[in-house]
Amino acid sequence: MIKKAEKMGFCAGVQNAVDLVRKILSENPEKRIFLSDELIHNPIINHELKQKGIIFLSQYSNMPEQAAIEKYVTPKDIFIIPAFGISKSSRQVLEKIGCETIDTTCPSVKAVINKIIEFTKQGYTILYYGKPKHPETEAAVSYADNYIVIHSLEDIADKKLDKVGLVAQTTMLRSKVNKVFDEIETKLGKDNVKRINTVCGATQVRQDAVEKLAQDVKTILVIGGYNSSNTKNLAKVAANKGAKVYHIDGNPDKITKEKITFQPVGSDKESTEENWYTADIGITSGASTPDEVTEKIIEKINNF
Ligand code: SF4
Repeated sequence: MIKKAEKMGFCAGVQNAVDLVRKILSENPEKRIFLSDELIHNPIINHELKQKGIIFLSQYSNMPEQAAIEKYVTPKDIFIIPAFGISKSSRQVLEKIGCETIDTTCPSVKAVINKIIEFTKQGYTILYYGKPKHPETEAAVSYADNYIVIHSLEDIADKKLDKVGLVAQTTMLRSKVNKVFDEIETKLGKDNVKRINTVCGATQVRQDAVEKLAQDVKTILVIGGYNSSNTKNLAKVAANKGAKVYHIDGNPDKITKEKITFQPVGSDKESTEENWYTADIGITSGASTPDEVTEKIIEKINNF
């Protein structure tokens, strides 16, 4: 029997980005359309956009983003800012070029950026809890004068810090964010710290739903891009609750009754396991995983 998480799949921010880009593509068949990098972290959606002719600047050129925009994007082109946002300097270059810019930055990401701007104006150093090379991190911290990307209290152990503003990437684990922020507040003193938990609502409800799911089933498939932060965290939440977790990227060819190819929790490499199938399976999917992808996996398992 398959049991689905009560909340999973596309969030409003991702749905909006995908809808907007599909609309721009259909309305502008004659124009060159650039995307800074992946629109969202889902291989199926990014493949679709590439097939339809969108140019992914990060794959088109090895140059740093801002330089690549300056070199290749012209006033006649369309430039799409992904749901993760874009750096301040790249945005300034786009304004200078004067091309049509379609901004799909999620409102929750904009809220983080606005907080960083506010804390920075007040003279605070930003401590950003997130993944260092994630595009959302790179976009957000570009608005700070001084910042450190952190993962634990140890990251600031040898730093002399006065006033700090604490913000988090939207797709982190809220419990972990709170723990690290509490530790920093204790170390530096409440008066020196401004904090806001910026984990987005969509991430939180999906984490709560998979936690609940793990109470009912012992094997859980988590479907979503391997580079999707929110999907990886869903896998972590389920594993922390004791479930046997298989994070799969949504390609139905990678799953048969006999074996499954997946990315183990905490690993960056795929692995294959035999005899994985069991009668009761829980399913959830990341905020950037289209429902069709999840439905195809469910259909396949139902036919085992
Ligand atoms: S996961 Fe959250 S921050 Fe990311 S696009 Fe969805 S709603 Fe926005």
